[in-house]
Amino acid sequence: MKQNKGAMPRGIKLRLKVFLYFAFFTAMILLILWLFQTMFLSDIYENIKLKELYRSADTVTANIESDELQSITESVARKNELCILVISPSGRTLASAEALNNCVIHKISYREHAKLYLEAKETGNSVLGRFRYDMQTGSFISVNDNSMTEEECMILTKILKNSNGEDITVFINSVLTPVGATVKTLNTMLLFITAILIVLAVTVSLIMSNSISKPIVKITDSAKTLSRGTYIPSGAKKSCREISQLSDTLDNVSLELQKNEALKRELIANISHDLRTPLTMITGYSEVMRDIPDEITPENLQIIIDESKRLSYLVNDVLEISKLQSGNITLNLEEFNLTEALRETVVRYEKMTEHNGNRFVFNYDTDVTITADKQRILQVLYNLINNAVTYTGADKTVFIVQRVVNKNGEKCVRVEISDSGEGIPQEALPYIWDRYYKVDKYHRRSQTGSGLGLSIVKTIIEMHRGAYGVHSTIGQGSTFWIELNEPTSTKANTE
Ligand code: ADP
Repeated sequence: MKQNKGAMPRGIKLRLKVFLYFAFFTAMILLILWLFQTMFLSDIYENIKLKELYRSADTVTANIESDELQSITESVARKNELCILVISPSGRTLASAEALNNCVIHKISYREHAKLYLEAKETGNSVLGRFRYDMQTGSFISVNDNSMTEEECMILTKILKNSNGEDITVFINSVLTPVGATVKTLNTMLLFITAILIVLAVTVSLIMSNSISKPIVKITDSAKTLSRGTYIPSGAKKSCREISQLSDTLDNVSLELQKNEALKRELIANISHDLRTPLTMITGYSEVMRDIPDEITPENLQIIIDESKRLSYLVNDVLEISKLQSGNITLNLEEFNLTEALRETVVRYEKMTEHNGNRFVFNYDTDVTITADKQRILQVLYNLINNAVTYTGADKTVFIVQRVVNKNGEKCVRVEISDSGEGIPQEALPYIWDRYYKVDKYHRRSQTGSGLGLSIVKTIIEMHRGAYGVHSTIGQGSTFWIELNEPTSTKANTE
């Protein structure tokens, strides 16, 4: 479909898209930072403190009867900034460590200790309390709400029994500092971070989109020149592998298109040349016979018939190859005796070329039946035998050999068609299977085939998943071969 000249292509620009992704990414990071730093900070802080408290309590209680209790208590207190007091039922201090200035458990009276002990007893041998220091009364009052505005302390009271069955009480005191000030600082920092991230997002997205979109725009521009038939390589900076691949692909496409264009021109020149020769002959001879009645001879009429046949062969070949290569052909598979088909073909050729003195030698090891498209396989054999007849040497002999060979552990049937002609130069061998390729471009064209024969052979054999090839020695002749898979049945040749 044609695109309107000034019409804007759909979709948003890459630059904007990259920027939007970055903006979204930045917004997400900021949101996460904000949530963690302001909303949840206090909860996370209290949680960490609580975990520390319980972990320390576990360490102390696990060593309650150890001789090292005092040093363990001190080390735990120092490490976690806690105050710890372990007392016996009689109020005797078993271990004590003070790593805080404003510690409560070391300041309160024995009575308060007893209160906490009783509370813990009631609530399953463990109780956690929160206290605030009252400056006016100089005492600690317990806090019940969760809003922390001033410094608070948390006391964990744990009761456990020693080996004598006596209650040992462990008090652990931790301090909670209000996070309000920290949140304020973090919020100010967050503002700075936001500004920096926005600048960074814009810069990085600009750099990224430039390094991606600019080369793409250049490549698109040069692709547009391709459609006009005047390709100018983009010369785009190959900032990444994909872009470099895209640019290379476009360059290759342009090369292929140029090659195809040249081929197309050559093809039209070839076909018109090949069509012109017989047409000129037919017109020429017909005019002569019209003007000079004496020239109406069987020989002249034969020339017209031969040239008309050549024309129809040529047109048939052109139609056949375009049909085959369009990919719309399905093989008409049937089981048939290949050896028999070869034998009949040879007999027909012998009759056809009787007057030329051509000789055909057919050898085979076994009688082979295969499943294939019989008409197309016959077409392959005709094309190869035709070429051998055309190019064979002075002895005018064509050798046809059919044998069953073992290929990668599988049986296949191989047909070889050899002539003793002038052979094909080594450098031309890879190209003879191409459409319209002729080794001797100038001398042979007017007298032989369309230049399509081997291309038809190649396409048909490939459709049958078979193999094909050629051996040729200059001055000695050529052997063309085809291989078809899995003969259905074989019967040894006893002749
Ligand atoms: P053509 O119709 O021109 O023979 P083909 O596709 O059959 O076209 O063959 C392509 C070219 O390969 C021929 O033009 C010829 O140069 C070369 N060629 C094919 N078969 C033989 C052969 N048996 N001996 C020598 N050259 C051959």
